[in-house]
Amino acid sequence: MKILVVEDQRRLGQFLKKGLSEHSYTVTWVQTCREARDALCETHYDGIILDLGLPDGDGLDLLREWRKSGFNEPVLILSARDAVQDRVQGLDLGADDYLPKPFSLEELLARIRSLLRRQASTKETVLEHRAIRLDLLARTVTQNGQAVEMTSREFALLEVFLQNPGRVLPRTLICEKIWETNYDIDTNLLDVYMSKLRMKLEADPAKPLFRTLRGVGYQLL
Ligand code: CA
Repeated sequence: MKILVVEDQRRLGQFLKKGLSEHSYTVTWVQTCREARDALCETHYDGIILDLGLPDGDGLDLLREWRKSGFNEPVLILSARDAVQDRVQGLDLGADDYLPKPFSLEELLARIRSLLRRQASTKETVLEHRAIRLDLLARTVTQNGQAVEMTSREFALLEVFLQNPGRVLPRTLICEKIWETNYDIDTNLLDVYMSKLRMKLEADPAKPLFRTLRGVGYQLL
């Protein structure tokens, strides 16, 4: 799942990026309103973590703008301003939750899970294909009922395939979905992750799970 973090404070931004990435989220971290606008125009996010005091504007204005133009991604406001009035204003503008600073990573993760769970009540949270079952909320994968250990990147990669079974996925599209930026992506890295995924999931060589289309991409069979 992709999370956009809008936070200008370097240390906190790095902490969020690291903490969330370690919990299998794909994180894009931006530090200004302008970068946040660009990021949201470029791709879809499953959730946004939004700081209010930003160097080139107010997070509340960003939120107002997004909701007006129809972006309905769940938004968690993160701010040192914990006055009741700010909280109410944020929620009125369409934020889904509010977490005052300072906070613990555990608390943030719990809030995000609940945010995504609410959002997911209309969306599928368990993806299944052949004997594979991927639970987006529990962040677990099983095959024939047996747990399969995955790194966060392998999990994100498998998620992309399970959302598009049978479809030929171009290399660039896969990379775009699992890496946070479109720049400087070494697509050879994708082959490394694909072979790891195959080692874990293709137990029977007679029944391949993925098809390689050389130079084009991959397909979940
Ligand atoms: Ca700030």
